[in-house]
Amino acid sequence: MQKTDNHARDLMRFLDRSVVNFFAADTVRRRLEEEGFTRLDPKESWDIEPGGRYYMTKNDSAIFAFVAGDDGPDSGFKIISAHSDSPCFRVKPHCEMVCEGGVVKLNTEVYGGPILYTWFDRPLSLAGRVILRGEDPLNPVSRLIRFDRPLLTIPHLAIHFNRAVNDGNPLSKQKDMLPVIALDHSASDDKNIILTLISDELGVEKDEILDYDLSLYDTTPACRVGLHGEFITSGRLDDLSMVHAAMTALLDSDNMSMTRVMAIFDNEETGSGTKQGAASPVLDHILRRVNTALGGNEETYMRAIAKSFMISADNAHALHPNYPEKQDPTNHPIPGNGPAIKINANCKYMTDADSAAVFRTICERAGVPYQYFVNHSDVAGGSTLGNILTSQIDLRGVDMGAAIWAMHSVRETASVADHDYIIRAFTEFYNC
Ligand code: ZN
Repeated sequence: MQKTDNHARDLMRFLDRSVVNFFAADTVRRRLEEEGFTRLDPKESWDIEPGGRYYMTKNDSAIFAFVAGDDGPDSGFKIISAHSDSPCFRVKPHCEMVCEGGVVKLNTEVYGGPILYTWFDRPLSLAGRVILRGEDPLNPVSRLIRFDRPLLTIPHLAIHFNRAVNDGNPLSKQKDMLPVIALDHSASDDKNIILTLISDELGVEKDEILDYDLSLYDTTPACRVGLHGEFITSGRLDDLSMVHAAMTALLDSDNMSMTRVMAIFDNEETGSGTKQGAASPVLDHILRRVNTALGGNEETYMRAIAKSFMISADNAHALHPNYPEKQDPTNHPIPGNGPAIKINANCKYMTDADSAAVFRTICERAGVPYQYFVNHSDVAGGSTLGNILTSQIDLRGVDMGAAIWAMHSVRETASVADHDYIIRAFTEFYNC
């Protein structure tokens, strides 16, 4: 119980720090460095020792860590993958829009598939990455930025202007969802609020700021709810709870035979099609370089891949007590009943009977219950990292995740017990 509480507390701290994709990767990076992981530069040659701990970042928003195995280059990889991004709003260039009376709102664009109306009337802030002028035009300076104080809100229209609001209310992303940042700003000479905010926060001149990737986030911290505190409610549980579980298991495990890998990709919510996404060759390139640095060649790499196994960890839909009819009649995960193995007859998930059996055996060895998620046959489900990665690397693997409610809401709900179960299952996977 004590360990379960500790895992929950650590997860909530992790979620509160990881407010957008860049900060998720950075929170993982800090933790890895505290635990003795060495950064690898993709532009340099890699010097890797068996038993050594290493990591590499990509675009500041994806991170890949591994502990090199000591059974030779063909011993294979145990991989857990997850994603750093969550649906949100991105700030557009030329974003300030001054409205009547000097009220300023920001022009934004939707990232991924958020449940739009959960973002109304919340204390929002901004975080992301700023690009500053550097010595080398091809390599400008990248700095992370996060305004910890609430800066914005998206006020909902009063019910008196739309009495039918509770009968279904279609929303326009361009009209209804723009956040307000300032009141009575017309007297100010400063027409570029965002540049001023960035320049003040980073202590740099405005003309040094070349560009930014800024997103909105909800400043409300994660917390436990329920009669016995059995739930965690927070933004970004999809998929940062799986990132946290993978990281914790990597640090807790100690089997040195195969290389243990954690792969945290960005841009899963938009289809993974970027250089830091799962559809890119980034993981294949990293694994090849590890193989080469350990003294291997193309032949040992192919043997290593053939021996490898991947857990593609992304959250699943828990049976909702108000909508049981939405789920499959016999395979619907309940929060608190263990990790959900995700299966789809049309192969949206990489799970098959072979890989489900592997994961089930891992759970049994860890003393962890498990359950299955299969779509209701009339409902088209989502997809995730597993199958996208198998188009890049010839891997066996399973899709699984914690069963959560309200996926893609600004706050999602998960079970405290499931998080502990999943850390135990992941640790057993790395150790078996
Ligand atoms: Zn996800």
